[in-house]
Amino acid sequence: MEIKEIYETMTYGPAPENAGEAIQFLESHNKSFNLFINGKWEAPSSGEYFDSINPSTKEKLAKISDADENDVNKAVAAAKKALPEWIKIGPHQRARYLYALARQIQKHSRLFAVLESMDNGKPIRETRDIDIPIVARHFYHHAGWAQLRDTNLKDYKEIGVIGQIIPWNFPLMMLSWKIAPAIAMGNTIILKPAEFTSLTALLFAEICQQIGLPNGVVNIITGHGKTGAAMVDHKDVNKIAFTGSTEVGKIIRRATAGTGKKLSLELGGKSPFIVFEDADLDSVVEGVVDAIWFNQGQVCCAGSRLLVQESIADKLYKKIRTRMESLRIGNALDKSIDIGAIVAPVQLKVIEELVQLGVDEGSTLWQPSWSCPTEGYFYPPTLFTDVSPSSAIAQEEIFGPVLVAMSFRTHKEAVKLANNTRYGLACSIWTENINLALDIAPQIKAGTAWINCTNVFDAAAGFGGYRESGFGREGGIEGIMEYLKPRIEESFSDKPVTKRTNNSNGSTGQLQPSLGIDRTTKMYIGGKQARPDGGYSMVINSSKGEYIGEVSKGNRKDIRNAVEAAHANTNWANRTGHARAQVLYYLAENLAIRREEFASRIVQMTNQSNADALQEVDLSIERIYTYAALADKYDGKVHHTIHRNVTLAMPESMGVMGIVCPDESPLIGFISTVIPAITMGNNVIVVPSEKLPFSATDFYQILETSDVPAGTVNIITGDKDELAQVLAKHDDVDSIWYFGNKKGCKDIELLSADNMKRTWVNYGKYRNWLDIEQGEGEVFLKHASQIKNIWIPYGA
Ligand code: NDP
Repeated sequence: MEIKEIYETMTYGPAPENAGEAIQFLESHNKSFNLFINGKWEAPSSGEYFDSINPSTKEKLAKISDADENDVNKAVAAAKKALPEWIKIGPHQRARYLYALARQIQKHSRLFAVLESMDNGKPIRETRDIDIPIVARHFYHHAGWAQLRDTNLKDYKEIGVIGQIIPWNFPLMMLSWKIAPAIAMGNTIILKPAEFTSLTALLFAEICQQIGLPNGVVNIITGHGKTGAAMVDHKDVNKIAFTGSTEVGKIIRRATAGTGKKLSLELGGKSPFIVFEDADLDSVVEGVVDAIWFNQGQVCCAGSRLLVQESIADKLYKKIRTRMESLRIGNALDKSIDIGAIVAPVQLKVIEELVQLGVDEGSTLWQPSWSCPTEGYFYPPTLFTDVSPSSAIAQEEIFGPVLVAMSFRTHKEAVKLANNTRYGLACSIWTENINLALDIAPQIKAGTAWINCTNVFDAAAGFGGYRESGFGREGGIEGIMEYLKPRIEESFSDKPVTKRTNNSNGSTGQLQPSLGIDRTTKMYIGGKQARPDGGYSMVINSSKGEYIGEVSKGNRKDIRNAVEAAHANTNWANRTGHARAQVLYYLAENLAIRREEFASRIVQMTNQSNADALQEVDLSIERIYTYAALADKYDGKVHHTIHRNVTLAMPESMGVMGIVCPDESPLIGFISTVIPAITMGNNVIVVPSEKLPFSATDFYQILETSDVPAGTVNIITGDKDELAQVLAKHDDVDSIWYFGNKKGCKDIELLSADNMKRTWVNYGKYRNWLDIEQGEGEVFLKHASQIKNIWIPYGA
């Protein structure tokens, strides 16, 4: 084409990236890749391979090993063997290895970018300018955490052998998010890439060899879902870190239930992109492009639901359609395209079917007039309007370049629509009014809120979900904590720790008149004493077998009422830390006034000495003070990200929590679990100790006199495990803590998978609740809250 003609048409010419070095890399392995185990390349024991295809051209790139259980066993054994030495070399040596990995990735960044684009179909512009720089940044950032491991994090230790399973949408980026923090903290790993996109992980394995990373620290096992499942089931794997679909996330949650394996799950999303009428609409349009056409919309946090204020909806749709018309689609290695290929035919089919469903449901479809190339797996950018909030395309994750638009009138309606999803990964809020943005961000149930920006990531900020988008965070200190465990856990006991020093005079203690026997306590729901729905009571005997009294036997209906009452109360979560602290101090004051009475009740139930019982009450008062003190001090951070952003990491309440109390230490077991949960602004449904419930039921008199709002603490007595299971299954309970036996722990984790509740269970290990180090501290507040990262760009 002549220059004159170019000026006349102003069309883009082809701008192909050179694939020579990437092809050389493939040829250096004869286009056939073995598994990377213990620092060496090993053929798969099955002898089976599968093809890796370039989705832009349908060309076969290479053969990839299909690892089976034998290979997984070998890799786990290698990681286990490498662990002691990797721990022993210490933080500084590990920091050096991470730094070497970062440097090596930077030195080969273009090779990584080209290979990634060929394997995945994503535009070279994205892999070159976004994916690979983020990968290098992760290794740098975590080289720093490795260095600080024994100084800043000395109360924690490594977890051990980690199994990591990643998806195909950001293959190398996901690898770096998993491997960097894991090995920085002294763990060793086995990583399984997705079957469609193994190549950059295999190139990374070569980089590990080049820098002399000790054998077995990083093992890369390629294969299918069954390979991942074998890793999940392996008894020597101490933690699973998974990114992928919510469906597989639930399978993994169930498979690991009760095993004590630590778990982090980064799952799907249907993130809202909310545009208020005062937003800068031209910026919004570019934001939409980045939100849903970045990586062909195959992004877990894609802004796939466009929520627009009604007054500007038509104007914005028009601008978006104009912009869609000018988007360019094509071979991923063309430097001037906006949209590449869909990863594989199976994903293309999912997109096509869901789009057809949208049309069948009556929504209005709009696609640009140009057509897609025919040689690869392409799908055009798509906009749906006239969408009903309950339609499948508004609820299901399409994982393709499909934007679904809805409108709202009021701010309240915007929040309601945004939260009308089972997911909670991210949200994007567009307005020129910073007060409005900061008012809306905390109201959206999502782990990340981007204000006037979208799809911004950095190694220093945590990323992860609420609700069915999974749990755990990746990035920054929040992500680091996923690869550590508190050292204190080593001192937990295999048997319940109870203080049972018998009274020296052998009596059951001095009962005060108010503790007269033969009383039946009610439950406490929505700030009121409540009779059990079933009309049954349970007899409670002392540890000597003497009748003390009866408690109400709660059932499913009582739990339902309590959950409703907890949801109805918005007063507590919205209070400041200072306001909550005042109520907590008041609780402690009122408990102190009734110190002897509570001690007598403990003596009556447990037959321990008066002195020990008084000590338990005094410690309980002290513990309430601790949390009152922390209520306005356990706060967030402003992360040092690389963008011109203030990135606020804010701890938020979980919402409604179920708390199943330990059976040891009736009062302090109740206080130690309930108080930190409400300190963070949660409303709770408490199932007190089944055998020793009276300290909890007496406590509602304290709640009533201490300005605790109705619905903040609800107490349901009865069969502990039966009630725990109802709580675990309840879809409107966001989190559950369970302190009991091993079987109970397993049941809780199994039953919680349906709505991906956060769980905290003791796996049959017991704390001494009277011990300050074991019974209190920030770890309780951490489990009672989740971090939301709010990104606020600056610059005029
Ligand atoms: P999957 O959840 O199916 O796969 C993710 C990873 O898990 C892959 O490595 C996969 O292996 C592996 N895997 C599959 N089954 C099991 C199992 N039973 N046990 C252990 N590991 C397993 O996601 P897909 O890649 O198939 O994508 C499908 C959907 O997942 C998308 O449409 C999207 O909704 C969602 N997704 C979400 C992502 C996110 O970042 N949140 C990323 C990618 C997908 P293999 O690929 O070899 O089968």
